[in-house]
Amino acid sequence: MHPKVFRDELAAAAEWVADYLGQITQRPVARPIPTAHRQALATGALPQEGQDLGALLEFVDEAIAPYPTGNGHPAFFAWINSPPSPAGVIAELLATAVNATCGMGEHALMDLERGVVRDLASLAGMAPTTGGVLTSGGSMANLLCLGAARTWFLRRHGATDGPAYDQAHARLTAYHSDQAHMSVAKAATVIGLPPWRLRAVPTTADQRMDIDALQAMVDADLASGLLPFCVVSNLGSTAGGAVDPIEAITQVCRGQGMWHHADGAWGGLGALVPQLAPLYRGVSDLDSLTIDPHKTLSVPVGCGAALVTDPSRLRDAFTFRASYLDGDQDWPWMSDYTIELTRPGTRALTLWATLRQLGRSGVVDLLQHYQDLAHYLRQRVQEQPGLELCNDGPLPVVCFRLTADTINPDRRADLHKAVAARIQARGHAYLATVSHDGETVLRACVCNYLTTTDDVDTLLQEVHSAIHHVRNV
Ligand SMILES: *Cc1c(COP(=O)(O)O)cnc(C)c1O
Repeated sequence: MHPKVFRDELAAAAEWVADYLGQITQRPVARPIPTAHRQALATGALPQEGQDLGALLEFVDEAIAPYPTGNGHPAFFAWINSPPSPAGVIAELLATAVNATCGMGEHALMDLERGVVRDLASLAGMAPTTGGVLTSGGSMANLLCLGAARTWFLRRHGATDGPAYDQAHARLTAYHSDQAHMSVAKAATVIGLPPWRLRAVPTTADQRMDIDALQAMVDADLASGLLPFCVVSNLGSTAGGAVDPIEAITQVCRGQGMWHHADGAWGGLGALVPQLAPLYRGVSDLDSLTIDPHKTLSVPVGCGAALVTDPSRLRDAFTFRASYLDGDQDWPWMSDYTIELTRPGTRALTLWATLRQLGRSGVVDLLQHYQDLAHYLRQRVQEQPGLELCNDGPLPVVCFRLTADTINPDRRADLHKAVAARIQARGHAYLATVSHDGETVLRACVCNYLTTTDDVDTLLQEVHSAIHHVRNV
């Protein structure tokens, strides 16, 4: 490619990006992708001859950008997806140009990754020894931490190979609450822990893990000759925003020689918010913590982090040698902490750029912003006749439903689904449903730095108009 063409196209792309992000509020939050378009995209049709670069921008503008999930828009309240931080968007491009393969050898971005991992750990309130690795997201971070926990436990039991390993491995059990993210079960399966040795501990009315139930399950497993090795707690459950009792769980873990991993993919930084801080006491005693900077921090997707208080435990699990790769004793390669070898440097630079622009106080303000808007939404829901709250946080996710007196209880789940679908189709706001105490209800999560009280008001207007519409069809 001619350097001049590259420069011009790059400049045009930069213009496009600034326009797209600058005008995002003027577009529909999301819009359904026409079936023919989906098919065309999904079919794949590589032309024989290469095309000119200009066609790329046109393609993105016409075929991709009009059909987002919606998470760039301030009236998007579904799931836990944020818009990209401006610093992250620029950093992503820069890091792509540098094209680091942050797994082996030396690269400044690999050292920067060590630095931002420490920054994240410090923001979360973890012990100063904490290290770890950036990942594609929370699912991968949960997998790495469970892998590290398993290796650590088997080593401590002298069951590192042969029949001792097989026998011990076949008796491992782990625990999470019935509100855990499904990625925990996925991770357990990948490390060879089948679903029937992964226990879902019941929760109390506030959706937090029931400690007595946990202890009873662990005791029962020990009594039947099993080997409890890990408890996964929630720092911000996905469905309802619950934070498990960290210190009490750590105590149970210490009593039995178990690893305490906390899944804080979404809520892992909650200790920074003054009114949440008491719930996060004990984070410094965790063995490991998952955080997803691509959720609350708006780092472009995909950036997660596996933080481990003694990072050598990740290395024990994931260091493998090969003649074609000669590791570094003093500065272990990042591939020694994870499954990936050739790894992108975009995660480190986008996270660094985002954090640097925010500063510590900016991170606190951002999290507080989500809390304040969720509080506003809760208040508004409570004021509305015909609506009621189902949960009380503490994190910024608001579950609500139509009151029982306004609607036939048998129809309630269908109605909630229809309301969400109607709102999604109209494109003025976006929210999803979730199962709450076995019932399908509406769920709005605040995770967007652009969202204001006006967007919350729009959401409620949309809820009302959707209720009116689905009742009358
Ligand atoms: C989102 C989420 C995950 C999964 O993270 P991904 O980045 O989507 O892989 C895991 N746990 C919790 C609590 C989450 O909210």
